[in-house]
Amino acid sequence: MIFPTSQGVMRCPCCHKTISTTAAYCVHCKAEKRFGPLRRENILYSALGLILALVVSSLLIPLSFWNALFALGGLGVGFVFAQYRFSTDRWICSK
Ligand SMILES: [Zn+2]
Repeated sequence: MIFPTSQGVMRCPCCHKTISTTAAYCVHCKAEKRFGPLRRENILYSALGLILALVVSSLLIPLSFWNALFALGGLGVGFVFAQYRFSTDRWICSK
C-alpha cells in the first residue's frame, strides 16, 4: 500500500508505519525524533578529545601542568565537534 506523502504523514524510519510529519515520536514503536547529540555521544566525543589531546601533548612536551590544560582543551573541542556532528534531525529507534 502506498501512502500519499503530501498530506502531513510520513513513514516511521524505524517501524515503517504511518505517522504525522510533525510527530516528535512514533506512536507505534516509540521511536524518538532527536535534534543534536545524545548524552552518551557528548560523553564519548568529549572523552575522545581529552584522550587525544593528552596523548598528542605528551608526545610534544614533557609531562607537566600544561598537559592538563591541553587535555581540557581537547575535551572542549570534542564536545563542540559532537554538537556539529549531530546537528540534524534524527530518529532514534527504541530497542
Ligand atoms: Zn515507528
